[in-house]
Amino acid sequence: MWKSILNLAAVAATIDAAAVDIRDDYKGLVSSELLRNSIKTEALKEKALKLERFAYDSPTKNRVIGSEGHAATVKYITDTLKQFPDYYNVTTQEVPLNVGESANVTILGEATDAYAVGFAPSGSVSGNLAVVSNLGCEESDFPKNATGSIFLISRGTCVSGEKVLLAKKAGAKGVLIYNNIDGNLEGYSLQRVPEGDDYVPTAGISQGYGKGLIAVVNGGIPVPVVMSTTSRDIISLNVNVQTIDGDQENVIHVSGHSDSVTQGPGINDNGSGSVSLLEIAIQLTKFKVKNAVRFSWWTGEEIGLMGAEYYVKHLSAAEKNKIRLLLDFDMMASPNYAFQIYDGDGSAYNLTGPPGSAEAEAEFSHFFKNIAKQNHTEIEFDGRSDYGPFLEAGIAAGGIACGAEGIKTQEEFEMFGGAAGLAYDVNYHEDGDNANNLNYDAWIVMAQAIAHSTATYALSFDSLPPKNATAIRKRGEAQMFKYKQSASYLKMI
Ligand SMILES: [Zn+2]
Repeated sequence: MWKSILNLAAVAATIDAAAVDIRDDYKGLVSSELLRNSIKTEALKEKALKLERFAYDSPTKNRVIGSEGHAATVKYITDTLKQFPDYYNVTTQEVPLNVGESANVTILGEATDAYAVGFAPSGSVSGNLAVVSNLGCEESDFPKNATGSIFLISRGTCVSGEKVLLAKKAGAKGVLIYNNIDGNLEGYSLQRVPEGDDYVPTAGISQGYGKGLIAVVNGGIPVPVVMSTTSRDIISLNVNVQTIDGDQENVIHVSGHSDSVTQGPGINDNGSGSVSLLEIAIQLTKFKVKNAVRFSWWTGEEIGLMGAEYYVKHLSAAEKNKIRLLLDFDMMASPNYAFQIYDGDGSAYNLTGPPGSAEAEAEFSHFFKNIAKQNHTEIEFDGRSDYGPFLEAGIAAGGIACGAEGIKTQEEFEMFGGAAGLAYDVNYHEDGDNANNLNYDAWIVMAQAIAHSTATYALSFDSLPPKNATAIRKRGEAQMFKYKQSASYLKMI
């Protein structure tokens, strides 16, 4: 009898505790399941439409750096998260950037359709057109004895700033870059190179016009060019938000870019990543974390990872050491999607990341295989988005994407449906990249994958190699670590 009385007392005590637990201000520890289940398609959609409105209500109809649409996006993110002052420290970082303003180009005495280029200096120059061979990525591509000319170079492959510096070295007074795909070169920017950005005046023209000019020059006819360009310096913002709760010495850093290209509102690229992070950041405030969680929205990704690069460049060694893993999310809702994981262990593309990158890949594989029960593929860990500068700084990185201009294979069609032989996102960097053309079924899976990884690392970094495991482990060792981890993952389901 006494025993059961005691048990009743224990039950009563439990009920009391439970009553306390459901108070509004009570915060239980986060878990993958709790955070995942708090992410709803409707909330993502509503925010995607908001970003789309920021673009369509603005004069330039996009969210490119320096535009009203981008400023509104950044303000929306910061204002939303400032509503949780007890939970997050919200800061912005000023990133100096430059955007093209005007380009007036006269060729063979006629004014032409030319486009201003970011980071090109303002100036007026003239000279005869000289054609650069191949893609202008090698010194040998540049014509000899063409000092004082305006050089005509194809866009593509190597860093555009490198091409202009090589042109300058070969004696160019100015540069015309022609598109390497159909269409004009609106909103183009020179990507910066470590050697500096002491460029010559540069403007962009369409592929068709560029090819036509090559034919004329190759026909032996001199082509006089007069060009004047202007660009302007701007300050653009990275947004950094960190939980006040959690171990501040060990940070899971979750990020994506906030800017679009000039051509359209950029709702898949990368409104989908921006909105996923924002919604997860809002839902996370319901929970306690063990490790600090940092969210970043980078500016200037589309002109060469400028925001992320600036951020990493200004981190001290001690600050770099606090970031246990950087996760990057760019394009979460491609209409003809594939679930792609960055190949952090190099098993598919033989490009590994710093220790921890292989384990991040394994964590996402675990999510798709065992939780979402979806197929997945791997994509090359090539540094093509904001995680690039982190990899270079020796910080472990990982992430997932749904695909950009790449073409879906027959094998991927069998795995994900959609259409084989068609781009993952036919609207990639086009005006059709809006909220209408997102795949919401894919997006919710992707957003829950982000929620899973955020919650998992907010709880523990035990699945990662120990801190300061700076020695690059061999492929075989990385594989073994991944194998051991996946065995323990199976127990976690
Ligand atoms: Zn992007």
